[in-house]
Amino acid sequence: MEPYSDQHISDATRRFLARPRRMLIGGEWCEAVDGGTLEVIDPATGAAFTRVPAGGAEDIDRAVAAARRAFESGDWPKMRPVDRERLLLRFADLIEANAQELAEIEALDNGKPVVMARLVDVALVVDFLRYMAGWATKIEGATMDVSVPLMRDRELFGFTRREPVGVVGAIIPWNFPLLMAAWKVAPALASGCTMVLKPAEETPLTALRFAELAKEAGYPAGVFNVVTGHGHTAGAALAGHKGIEKVAFTGSTEIGKLVGKAALDNMTRVSLELGGKSPVIVLDDADPAAAAAGAAQAIFFNQGQVCTAGSRLFVHKSRFDEVVEGLAGIAAGMKLGPGIDPATQVGPLVSAVQQQRVLGYIRSGYEEGARAAAGGEPARVGAGGGYFVQPTVLVDTRDDMKVVREEIFGPVVVAMPYEDLDEVARRANDTPYGLAASIWSNDLSRVHRLIPRIKAGTVWVNCHNILDNAMPFGGYKQSGIGREMGRAVLDLYTESKSVIMAL
Ligand code: ADP
Repeated sequence: MEPYSDQHISDATRRFLARPRRMLIGGEWCEAVDGGTLEVIDPATGAAFTRVPAGGAEDIDRAVAAARRAFESGDWPKMRPVDRERLLLRFADLIEANAQELAEIEALDNGKPVVMARLVDVALVVDFLRYMAGWATKIEGATMDVSVPLMRDRELFGFTRREPVGVVGAIIPWNFPLLMAAWKVAPALASGCTMVLKPAEETPLTALRFAELAKEAGYPAGVFNVVTGHGHTAGAALAGHKGIEKVAFTGSTEIGKLVGKAALDNMTRVSLELGGKSPVIVLDDADPAAAAAGAAQAIFFNQGQVCTAGSRLFVHKSRFDEVVEGLAGIAAGMKLGPGIDPATQVGPLVSAVQQQRVLGYIRSGYEEGARAAAGGEPARVGAGGGYFVQPTVLVDTRDDMKVVREEIFGPVVVAMPYEDLDEVARRANDTPYGLAASIWSNDLSRVHRLIPRIKAGTVWVNCHNILDNAMPFGGYKQSGIGREMGRAVLDLYTESKSVIMAL
């Protein structure tokens, strides 16, 4: 059970892979109650290289009980905000100190290029933990002068407090395993919640390394628990658990709806960050070469397995041929390889299922009359067996085709010409999703007029896929409910309590 090629694997990663992999529940390393395990597959070869516990409903019960105990008793509820800040800073330092190992584990597990895992995923995680550590001491309520008609003769005083929401269940996807874990863990721990994290079955490894580092940072037993396992077992048990106060989910819109309904049955607070079909809109004044490079980054970053991927490219008809030619040239020149190889620009997709899903979409595009200006095929890399798909640019599409309407979640963009702003605003919004969009132009007034017309949680101008800790992130329409990051995320992890005192 060896991963693709071990020449690029550091000793630290080797040591991690050599340790038994167990779940962290109540501060203890545990197997699944029923002893079940699941294989971890190297997407660059298709070979299994290790196993993790396949936790189920009973394991989720144990983890929720541990998180409940830690929330209500022991050291954690006694910690001052400044103590939570320091703990989170220490956790961030440990992640930074182990950045290369985490990036390598992510590359082996997910297939993503290790250089990106280090410079994007792990770097963002460290910054986000530090950013949220700062919020631990800045969670505040307000005081109110109240005027109650029936109590004119009494002096009244009103104030609000923000309290940690309680035990959080976090269910995360496989495209940015460590970063999505951090997006849930950091605000939960900054706010004083305790939590159970369920990573995706395809990519459980960095969550387990994350758990080791959380323990090393000094989090009391039960504050942070990780249960690895399948979505329909462990995930469903967590989403519908009566013992938690909040579910934080990132994943597909289809599963997000199930999770949301399960949560609502218990009136569990829920935030959902779901799918997208984000438009990239190139106006006629844009530099075609810059727009082509931007469009390539928008769709091919992380093999297109990004909820904000710029998967619908709208180019003004006067620039269409130039931009598509530039984009197709970039796509054809990208270096495919295993994620663990530092020279790789495009890695494999995460799984055989995902590769087949993406190839199925490309086939459906051909059947409906689309043509590939670049790519359009699986790719063979090394000895074969990996889940590679060529970076693909589809043209000659119609707006009712599946490849235009549905989220592909792979390195496939549909490029479409348009004539005027009204038309492109209408077509850009003609989707059930509303996560993000980008506009490429230096014409300030047209850009400003377009921004309010685009129904999306994030609009980028002359860039795409750029996230900042201070900027709220989330979706309009079927792309989700709630905003993560920035000050806004605190609302998801705290309850507001109103206090009125008669003096
Ligand atoms: P994708 O389609 O991209 O694989 P999913 O939405 O299926 O994404 O998965 C995101 C997360 O949701 C994963 O951790 C997965 O295990 C989990 N999951 C899948 N099915 C369910 C379910 N029925 N209930 C709760 N979680 C689930």
